Amino acid sequence: MHIRQDEFLQTFSKAYIFGGGSSGISAANLLKKYGKKIYLIDKKKIEGDPFDGYLSDEINFMEFEESIIVKSPGIHPSHKILIAARENNVPVFSEIDIGCIFFTGKIIGVTGTDGKSTTTSLVWHLIKEDFPNSKAGGNLGVPFTVFCEEKLDFAVLELSSYQLEDSMPIDFVACTILNLAPDHLERHGTMDNYLQAKLKILDFDNPKKIYITSDEFRKKIPIKNYNFVQKSFGEELLTDALILEQENSIRTKKFTYSTKNFVLKGRHNLSNLACAILLAESIGSHPTNIQKQIKTFQGLTHRFEYVKKIGKLEIINDSKSTNLHSMLAGLKGFDKKTPFILILGGIPKKEELSPMLEVLQTKNVVVFLYGEAVSSWEKPLRDILGVNLIVKENLKEVVDNSFEISEKMNSKYLLFSPACASFDQYKNFEERGNHFKDLVNRRIDLS
Ligand code: ADP
Repeated sequence: MHIRQDEFLQTFSKAYIFGGGSSGISAANLLKKYGKKIYLIDKKKIEGDPFDGYLSDEINFMEFEESIIVKSPGIHPSHKILIAARENNVPVFSEIDIGCIFFTGKIIGVTGTDGKSTTTSLVWHLIKEDFPNSKAGGNLGVPFTVFCEEKLDFAVLELSSYQLEDSMPIDFVACTILNLAPDHLERHGTMDNYLQAKLKILDFDNPKKIYITSDEFRKKIPIKNYNFVQKSFGEELLTDALILEQENSIRTKKFTYSTKNFVLKGRHNLSNLACAILLAESIGSHPTNIQKQIKTFQGLTHRFEYVKKIGKLEIINDSKSTNLHSMLAGLKGFDKKTPFILILGGIPKKEELSPMLEVLQTKNVVVFLYGEAVSSWEKPLRDILGVNLIVKENLKEVVDNSFEISEKMNSKYLLFSPACASFDQYKNFEERGNHFKDLVNRRIDLS
């Protein structure tokens, strides 16, 4: 899409910001600078700058003349206000659309079910040496429209399926769909709708653009007429990034990168790194600079975050794991022989349990289960794990008991990767992860 800024600004005098979250407020601030009247539509009232007025989302009539709507990704597309807007030919934009109209640099896009935040921050880190005037944002931290007031070379944007569903085609220089597994089906309805939202990251009018994915995804979803670059594990021919785990390296056509000092654990993170390297190479980052940056990447909190080691036990906080796919990706690195403890719990998503049950059967694991998941997961887990399943009310009880169990089984890892949403007992995954780290640290102080 390219809508010219001046043409866009001439078409309206009022912007209704539908949803006053951080991206809505950021779009409001930007449009306000161009002299537009800005109104907020939300359940919760926010008064004062940048808003000139407020409407509840229960309203039955709106004055649509000379207006646009900027829709927050959290609002369902069939909300009555959006239906009324469409009937009145009022344009509905996403915050990402507004960003695309005003942003003057180039955009790199990252989507997928899991690993978006990790890969987005990795790409930003890898390109920093060659393109210091770049930033990462979108669904990760800073809203895209904040970058419109800075003259950046590159914005690396994490994009959720909601953001893509709501947006017009985006003019990326390079993009990736990391993977796809069932998630957010309460909003998208079917897997196919979810896939279609993700595929909106591709620019079908311009298939010469660089698009990176895994060989696994490519086999599952073949897309014709597209200039693919792909990455894989093992000895695939024609692959653009070959992940060689044994040799601690990733080989591309340009360079063989050492991953020896790469801080993130797990095969899934090597896969994210391969994607990030290909994205960085594709925009012209120099391999020796990429290599230098691989060593200094610090990782993100709550994503397979190394907490500490007590004796032989390594403790990992993966509180951001909110579905089975992300939890199972983390388990790929544990072989049959490695004894470990896995903590699961929270509110399960609508997912088939069989992939988890199959994987757990092949591991040397004791599983702790807590929270709402107990009601639907206890029986199937008990059937395959027997006494190696321990059920508790909450995370505190789990951590209290886990050290004792760990000693008994000579466990190497204590992995908190709940595979569920956190809202039954926590505000969000950050609060949950911090609580876990707190509980672990308190135990250590006691011992
Ligand atoms: P997102 O932003 O897509 O939610 P994050 O980088 O925040 O992704 O990671 C979320 C969860 O997914 C974490 O539990 C992390 O360990 C796991 N994860 C990271 N990369 C991958 C991947 N490539 N495949 C599957 N799971 C992954």
